[in-house]
Amino acid sequence: METTFRNKVVVVTGGSSGIGKATALSFAQKGATVVLVDWIENSETMSLLKKTGEKFLFIKCDVSKESDVKAMIEKTIETFGRLDYAFNNAGIEGKSAPTQDCTEENWDKVIGINQKGIWLCMKYEIPEILKQGKGAIVNCASVAGLVGFAGLPAYVASKHAVVGLTKTAALENAKLGIRINAVCPGVIATPMIDRLTQNNKEAKKQFVGLEPVGRFGQPQEIANAVIWLCSDQASFVTGHAMAVDGGFVTQ
Ligand code: NAD
Repeated sequence: METTFRNKVVVVTGGSSGIGKATALSFAQKGATVVLVDWIENSETMSLLKKTGEKFLFIKCDVSKESDVKAMIEKTIETFGRLDYAFNNAGIEGKSAPTQDCTEENWDKVIGINQKGIWLCMKYEIPEILKQGKGAIVNCASVAGLVGFAGLPAYVASKHAVVGLTKTAALENAKLGIRINAVCPGVIATPMIDRLTQNNKEAKKQFVGLEPVGRFGQPQEIANAVIWLCSDQASFVTGHAMAVDGGFVTQ
């Protein structure tokens, strides 16, 4: 069964970089109209999307702000008339520090983007997808939504919350035609990991050590999972938090 998203509209948040960028491009390569959402516009991502020949739109939006998210969905509908799929992926790692040293500012920022942002996106996406009678949402959690990770308390709490939010929204929509799942990436080679390791060789080695396969995952390997979860090939899959990692959560 060839997967195609022709005549379908997908919102990808955090689409300017890393996992979101790879996923937005994969959707476009499979015929989707992509609404690329981010608070930073990236010219390289935009020109790669242009090269696919599909329709696309960039919308500047801070996913932690309700007025931004509401306006982003309104603009999507005004421009393309429908919404079928969403990959709610925008996220930040925040500052590394043990629980007792995490500041209120860091906590509020990380929870605001990673947790509240996912809820806000689903709040405005679900009513529009329901109008199509069929669709799918994938939320980006993390293996840090399944297991603990020392030094990133707000990040880990926010990603566990994404898993809970996903399961709840999936139950609410199971009979209504929207499948809602989460991906839980392992350590993926993106700018987020460059920041967390401060591009330090030794620190990168330690992160690779978290993946029994002995390498970082690539953004495309997460994009492939998101595409599958949105496709009809995953028609009996909803409410799951799917780890996509090289053995991280099983070690
Ligand atoms: P990245 O930094 O390359 O990309 C994140 C994107 O989100 C950026 O384009 C950024 O501008 C955007 N963004 C951040 N805050 C935003 C906001 N408030 N509103 C709109 N856009 C915002 O990082 P990435 O690794 O591609 O991360 C994507 C997602 O994957 C995140 O949710 C992250 O937590 C998750 N994740 C990443 C890894 C990894 O190892 N890289 C592992 C597990 C989960």
